[in-house]
Amino acid sequence: SLFITLLIFWALAIAIAYVLSRLSMRPILISWKKQREFSADAAHELRTPITVIQNQMEYLLTKPKKRILDEASSISTALDEVGQMQTLIKRLLMLSRGDANIIQIQRQSVDLREWSKRIFNIYQPLAESQHKTLRRDVLVSGEVAFDPDLMRQALVIILDNALKYTPEGGVIEVLIKKQHGKLIISVSDTGTGISDKDKNQIFERFYRVDESRNSKTGGNGLGLAIAKFIVQQHHGKIDVRDNHPRGTVFQMMIPIFK
Ligand code: ADP
Repeated sequence: SLFITLLIFWALAIAIAYVLSRLSMRPILISWKKQREFSADAAHELRTPITVIQNQMEYLLTKPKKRILDEASSISTALDEVGQMQTLIKRLLMLSRGDANIIQIQRQSVDLREWSKRIFNIYQPLAESQHKTLRRDVLVSGEVAFDPDLMRQALVIILDNALKYTPEGGVIEVLIKKQHGKLIISVSDTGTGISDKDKNQIFERFYRVDESRNSKTGGNGLGLAIAKFIVQQHHGKIDVRDNHPRGTVFQMMIPIFK
């Protein structure tokens, strides 16, 4: 009977170890590795703009004092880089606060027409100035509860991309509707499209399709990771499909709370 008791203990120990490793150890190990990659990528992303700014400043210092104001273009290049760094730092902070579980969503009743109109008032003139058409179709009446600031951030990220990756003459359409108890916010564009291979990866941190093509468009591959995080905080899903005949459709789906 001693042998049987030992056997039972042994089996129990293995079962507990197995369950523990599935439940906790594995995610912890993965997230350590991811965390290390995340910091390394972040440092790398910050180094580039800092080097540009440093070079511009060193160049300015070689100029005679009185001529410095003639150097508007290097000052504005440096300012652009500072702007990009600001966005990057804001996004990094958002993701690390998300990782640390300290972002609480604040659900409020939102009038979708009003909410989307505010975003449109900013993006419509921008689209027009780039000779692109931006349309909005809200098929939901009444109010829906979500975090209006966070969801605005998510929509703005997707809209920014739609504009960035759609050439002149293109059309971007935002559609807001309800389906099967879910709120669906979709953004379609007639831009460059995304290959099936890349569709699986664009939501990962720092992933960018074709770095050389994208180097002109700025960005650092954090936008969609943040949009996904925000949608998940709302217990929703985000996905991407082809638009026909060309371009991309991003869709955010969140369960409706009244
Ligand atoms: P980025 O700051 O580089 O735009 P994102 O995470 O927002 O980072 O997007 C990741 C990559 O997905 C982009 O670099 C781009 O290659 C691709 N992408 C995103 N949205 C679109 C779109 N509407 N059309 C084509 N490609 C897109």
